[in-house]
Amino acid sequence: MSSISHHDRQTTSLANKIQEVTGVALQNCYQCGKCAAGCPVAGDMEMPSCQVLRLLQYESPDYDRRVLESESIWLCLSCDTCHSRCPQTINTPKVMYFLREEAVRQGLAHPKSKDAQAFHKAFLGSVARHGRLHEIGMLMNYKVRTGHLFQDMTLGSKLYQKGKLELLPHGVKDKAAVKKLFKRTTGNKE
Ligand code: SF4
Ligand code: SF4
Repeated sequence: MSSISHHDRQTTSLANKIQEVTGVALQNCYQCGKCAAGCPVAGDMEMPSCQVLRLLQYESPDYDRRVLESESIWLCLSCDTCHSRCPQTINTPKVMYFLREEAVRQGLAHPKSKDAQAFHKAFLGSVARHGRLHEIGMLMNYKVRTGHLFQDMTLGSKLYQKGKLELLPHGVKDKAAVKKLFKRTTGNKE
């Protein structure tokens, strides 16, 4: 990996934005690799989570773009293993989440991320509307977006029969606070 001079660094780097929006200071990562060692999908990623963080530490436009275009940020399962193992308590899943949003915002999302994007939008849309997740609403939204209309129908009806899925959403009382939170973190005016 070529080194990046001080002059190549941007003031509006992803690392800066990440710190501003999520509070995660990427410069605290000292590349011990404990996060990637426990990550269940590290083997499927073209670059594991610690390498994503390393590229962002350079604060270079080229590396920032490479991260946003990568499939790795869409493979993260938000399992939190990396975060719980990290000696510096770097919240990697939170960073991955931000990177997905940013990749979509900049039109750089990896082509294979279509289904993950649909799930991501359906999940966020449900939480933005109700203040919490409404599973059936989110699943229907996801299926319409992806065209996977009849996949998992048997499992879905079993879960419904066992009372694991609610037909109607139960929203939180303070929806205004949820809207405010979304506006602040995603720029979503919904
Ligand atoms: S475990 Fe923490 S400090 Fe170590 S490489 Fe991963 S993010 Fe960096
Ligand atoms: S949260 Fe994502 S990056 Fe971290 S261990 Fe889980 S799958 Fe890997």
